Amino acid sequence: MTCGVIDLACTACRLSGKRLNVVPGNGPCSSGIMFFGEAPGKEEDVRGEPFVGRAGRVLNDAIRKAGGNRARVYVGNVVKCRPPNNRKPRPDEIDTCTSLYLEAEIGAVKPKVICALGQTAANFFLPTNEKMSDRVGKEIEMIIDGLEVRFFVAYHPAACLYQRKNIASFERSIRRCLRAAGST
Ligand code: URA
Repeated sequence: MTCGVIDLACTACRLSGKRLNVVPGNGPCSSGIMFFGEAPGKEEDVRGEPFVGRAGRVLNDAIRKAGGNRARVYVGNVVKCRPPNNRKPRPDEIDTCTSLYLEAEIGAVKPKVICALGQTAANFFLPTNEKMSDRVGKEIEMIIDGLEVRFFVAYHPAACLYQRKNIASFERSIRRCLRAAGST
């Protein structure tokens, strides 16, 4: 289930030109926790669902190992359309997409916990461009659009595919976030 508002025919930024599908977040709107990645990859673009490719399997495994259940948490992306060749979304694309959709999504779910997956999502939520690795696994109390949330940063699950040594940290972060939300 998608929460908030989403225009599946959105043309608000240049990413609409090359994407196959808008990829809304999904999960129960009553979820106490929201995970946000950067932007959809190839498989997500084809299927119109977030984190359904290899990175998604890493995320699902970590959630399951921590005693959680992917179907009971909300998973989405900061940007809802795949950037061509998986390039990083540009600042104007992030601004446009988040002001149209992400803010409404968070407002509809009102989660206790938000977990940013990777540097792009971390940069969106953190007030300064801190290095993600300095933030991994540490909790910050934040007010997001008037909502008090416990905010965490984890490595992007794709970083675990490239560097297996990141898996232990990633799984620890996911466990911590789920516990903070009472979702295990
Ligand atoms: N990477 C992301 O950041 N999001 C997805 O949905 C898939 C891969």
